Amino acid sequence: MQIGFYFDQTRCTGCGACQVACKDWHDLLAGPEKWMRILYTEKGKFPDVFVSYLVGPCFHCIDPVCIPACPVNAISKRKEDGIVVVDSQACLGSEACDFKCLKACPYDAPQFDQELGSKMQKCNFCLDRWAEEKLPVCVEACPTRALDAGSLQELESRYGQVREAEGFSYSKRTKPAVVFKPK
Ligand code: SF4
Ligand code: SF4
Repeated sequence: MQIGFYFDQTRCTGCGACQVACKDWHDLLAGPEKWMRILYTEKGKFPDVFVSYLVGPCFHCIDPVCIPACPVNAISKRKEDGIVVVDSQACLGSEACDFKCLKACPYDAPQFDQELGSKMQKCNFCLDRWAEEKLPVCVEACPTRALDAGSLQELESRYGQVREAEGFSYSKRTKPAVVFKPK
């Protein structure tokens, strides 16, 4: 089975509830490490303007390019559900390894804190919740129901197979596990 995310870009207001819920659930400190990021696109000129938001978790790619980039095999993909996990203890740390996973990932999902030599961390699809058959906390926190998650196959049959959205480009190399309703 392969898990994935669904994101309805027409519903997202950029409120940040998913990001806050993620930081809270995973006890992340205030600062740059965000397992869920919210990206912003603004186009046009007043009065003809266009604004959209995009969520930025790890997309638990089907063929994750971060895995071969890691020199110490600290990143792996679980056979049973396709969740991509990092062993932060095994990670060499940002300076020693020069951010190889971050440089490889087209979606900037690997996160580091501000300390010198900090270890990589990232979205783990709320593994603890998933083990209890609950969806990631970002999905539950979204007040506009812009997010969904679960089996990628089921998401595709419910929402379709659109792989692109404003500000997001599908990488055939890494195959992110996400479908969209674009704005
Ligand atoms: S989104 Fe980036 S970090 Fe996550 S599995 Fe894909 S390549 Fe790896
Ligand atoms: S920063 Fe850590 S997880 Fe990322 S490639 Fe280097 S050793 Fe591997």
